[in-house]
This record gives sequence, C-alpha cells and structure tokens, in this order.
Amino acid sequence: MPKRRFSAIFSAREKTLCGAARLPLSIFKMNPLCDYHTHTPLCRHAEGWPVDYARAAVARGLAELGISDHSPMPEPFDDWRMLLGDLPRYFEAVEEARAAFPQLPIRLGLEVDFFPGQESWIERLAGMADWDYLIGSVHYIAPGWDVDNPRHVSRFEERPVAEIWELYWSAYEKCIRSGLFDFVAHPDLPKKFGHRPPGDLRRFYEPSIAALAETGVAFEINTAGLRKPVGECYPSLEFLKMAREAGVGLLINSDAHAPEEVGAGFETGLALAKEAGYSEVLRFERRKRRSVPLPGLGQPSGGEIRP
Ligand code: FE
Ligand code: ZN
Ligand code: FE
Repeated sequence: MPKRRFSAIFSAREKTLCGAARLPLSIFKMNPLCDYHTHTPLCRHAEGWPVDYARAAVARGLAELGISDHSPMPEPFDDWRMLLGDLPRYFEAVEEARAAFPQLPIRLGLEVDFFPGQESWIERLAGMADWDYLIGSVHYIAPGWDVDNPRHVSRFEERPVAEIWELYWSAYEKCIRSGLFDFVAHPDLPKKFGHRPPGDLRRFYEPSIAALAETGVAFEINTAGLRKPVGECYPSLEFLKMAREAGVGLLINSDAHAPEEVGAGFETGLALAKEAGYSEVLRFERRKRRSVPLPGLGQPSGGEIRP
C-alpha cells in the first residue's frame, strides 16, 4: 500500500431493463466488481463511515471499495458537501477503514463539482492527497440551481425541459474537457425526477461522447437512479451504446449514501453494460487506470488486474 501524504496540505423507459434479469450474486465471486462512488457523513446527507462501507463491500464480495465524498469548496458553499476543514478527518476515516479491512483495497477519491472558473481550486484539491481518482460531477446548471435537488424540482415546470437539459449537457462537456478528472459521474442526471425533452435524446449526448472519446476520460453507470423517481440507471442505454461505439471507458458505481447501498443495483448495471456491448470496466489506483473483464466475461480472474 503506497504511503499517503494526508497531512501534507492542510494546512451520483428502459423499464424493461430496470426489471432486467437479475444475475446471481455468485457471478461476482469469479471476477468481482468494485464500487468507487460512496459518501460519508462529512457531506451532511449521507450515513456510515468508510469502515462501515468496507464491511458492506466485503460482505457483498466486491473487489475494491472507493470513497468519494462531495468536494469541499474554498469557502462554505451549500449544505451538502464536505467543509474544507473536514478533509483531514476524511483522510483519517479512509485510513481507519484500511486498517480494519486490510484484505480490501480501499481507494481514496472525491466527487468534485465542476464549475467553469474554479479550475485552479480543483487543481489545488488535486494536490492535497494522493488521490486514486477524482470524479467530475455537474449538479449546478446555474448559480444556486443544483438540478438534482428536490427543492428546485418545480423549475422543470417553469421552462422547457430541453433548455434545462441543454444547460446541463453543455456544463457536462466542459467538465469532461477540463482534463481535471479521471471519470465523470451520473451522465444524464436531469432525468432524475422523470423529465426528458421530446425526441431523440442523442442530440444531447453527442458532444459529451465526443469529449470523452477525445480526452480519454471515462464515465460511470450510476445505479442510484434506480432508487430515484426515474427508476433507472444513469445513463440511458442509448448513451451507453454511443460511448461503447466511441471506445469510452466505463465503471459501475452505486453512489451509496448509506452502507446498505454499496453495490446496490449492480446486477442491473452489469446487464446494461453488457447490452451496450461493454466487456470491461476500469479500476483506478493513484490516478492510473486499468481494465478488468466484466463478471462472466473473459478469464475468471478473482479480481486480478489485466495489463
Ligand atoms: Fe455522489
Ligand atoms: Zn450526495
Ligand atoms: Fe453526484
């Protein structure tokens, strides 16, 4: 386990798919999946510390666990992210989980909100620890408007849904192109409450797929959508097929906000990935990516990494 320098700085329609064949848990034993998107109480809307997530990951038979709480801002910003002063406690909590479950690789990550103009702050954050990965996220589509916040759901009735999607996807492309992130989170988040513009949605996806392909940034199937009103994973099967076609790397994550959500919906996520034609998922360590075959594909590897 590499030595971490934690103290140095301080100074988350295809209805048929949702109900898709549920794969037996035993499949994960052959070549288990990882869960890299989890939250802690430090963000003030999640429960369970890394050690609790680790216990759940071991019980679920996952190969690796990653902790990725909502990134702090230079100044207090909203009520659903870590405070900057809590970062040392975050690092400690990850170390506590590593000590308690030495058999489980536990990765240090962060779900970073991307705002144009905040690049230098994100670069500073990137230097504050030996992160295994940084997740780029878009929640805010305008100042004070986090598109997934139930507080603002009425705004979907106040203007065309297509405009809201346009704002989101344009920010999402910028997030990808910033070059600051290893992978990006929950691609079609604005569908959370069930709002989709009319017509073929691929027009929204195309610029971001191109950005992913050009930059080599990966993305996740985020199973949290299964637990939201939309009742399906982020992103849609269409997005996944386009990404697969473009050769974009993939992860499958739960966006757990409680230990019992670790690995939740992975059977559905895995079925979606396979339907889109994916045969591999990525793992990260110290911001370097590696591919492993999806469970049930390739050589059973017990989680061993392929070059
Ligand atoms: Fe998240
Ligand atoms: Zn959250
Ligand atoms: Fe998120």
